[in-house]
Amino acid sequence: MGSLYLAHRIALLPRPEQVEYFKRACGTARKVWNWALAEWKRQYAAGLKPNAMALKKQFNAIKYSAPGWLDEHGRPWLRGIHRDAHAQPFTHLARAWNQYFADLKAGKPAHEPQFKKKGRCHESFYVANDRLEVDNENRKIRLPIVGWVAMTEPLRFTGRIQGATVSKTGNRWYVAIQVEVPEAIFHRKRTGHGTVGVDLGLSAAATLSNGEKIKAPQPLKAALRRLRIRGRRLSRKIAAAKAAAGYGKAPLPKGTRLPISNNFRKAATALAGLHARIAHIRADFLHKLTTRLCRENQAVVIEDLNVKGMLQNERLARALSDVGFGLFRSQIEYKARRYGTRLIVADRWYPSSRLCSSCGYNNPALALKDRAWTCPSCGAHHDRDLNAAYNLERLATATALPVVSPSGNGGAAVEASTAVGKVTPVRYESSDSEQEGNAAHESARF
Ligand SMILES: [Zn+2]
Repeated sequence: MGSLYLAHRIALLPRPEQVEYFKRACGTARKVWNWALAEWKRQYAAGLKPNAMALKKQFNAIKYSAPGWLDEHGRPWLRGIHRDAHAQPFTHLARAWNQYFADLKAGKPAHEPQFKKKGRCHESFYVANDRLEVDNENRKIRLPIVGWVAMTEPLRFTGRIQGATVSKTGNRWYVAIQVEVPEAIFHRKRTGHGTVGVDLGLSAAATLSNGEKIKAPQPLKAALRRLRIRGRRLSRKIAAAKAAAGYGKAPLPKGTRLPISNNFRKAATALAGLHARIAHIRADFLHKLTTRLCRENQAVVIEDLNVKGMLQNERLARALSDVGFGLFRSQIEYKARRYGTRLIVADRWYPSSRLCSSCGYNNPALALKDRAWTCPSCGAHHDRDLNAAYNLERLATATALPVVSPSGNGGAAVEASTAVGKVTPVRYESSDSEQEGNAAHESARF
């Protein structure tokens, strides 16, 4: 049997000089990733077959001598950074490409690895297990170069520590410690054995096929006013800095660095702090929801929402990202494994909203704004979200409705399915048997 992994993400209380090192290590990881990605693309374009091991070797040969890796005194600055920070990006890059090609092959939306930009990416670096030590009694962790760093809580899991990732969210630093745990800790007991269809939407965050509507604490909406104020404060500081540097209203030439005043820094910190708070409220809500769904049910049916695609619709974007659909998906997949719950994902083209859950009629006229509708075929009256949840729940049972052949109904989703020829309602299932497969990968998100 494969190993089971859990990760615990703990806030750190680093001293200023420790923060300085964290920043440098993150910068190193980012820079190495970008180097590796550029080299990967160059080799690929030249018809070669790049791989992480060979790239790492290639990098090791130049990292203490190539011009980009020397400081102003001509000394290799990588010597001041622990090794994992510049070794791990190669592994991450290989994983990202594997994921990309696997998604491509499976017909899922695939995303090529991207170059990382300072301040616009998730800043993190890796520490291997032989370079760290956890002192749970005194709530601290020993990390390379910086020594002991205080943690806000002790490590929750006991087991063999695999490694850790230090990262930054908002103005705080965190360490996610990965632990190999025994089965008894990994697997959780379910309290119920129901089957539930979950329709994710805007009016209610989630509508369950048992009739329950769960509202999201719309943190972004509530904080929007404050967000606007803090955003405006920051842009005023930027405008002032531009004016002081003599650029006026003209766009800055690429690569220009503005002097950063204390007030500028304060405004940026306040804004980042608010963003982080919003992210926390959202994650907390989704953790509770996904845990509940998996704990109480032996089967959960959800839709395969193309979040990226939907976010391109700007009107929907804010409300959607406020609910955090992408996060919902990754959390529920991981928890279904822990609770041994069957997770069934409906095909993206399955018309869960348009099908009448009473007679199976596929309503061509249903628009996004229709919150309720009456079936022209059997006269049943439907709440849009609840009807969708019923249809999803059925995918877990033998009573799934046959999809009536859609003819000329103008719906983009259904059109695409006719092009394929037939609707496959279930995209994939995950269940007990494949529980261990991706555990390490999934838990890494925490
Ligand atoms: Zn009907």
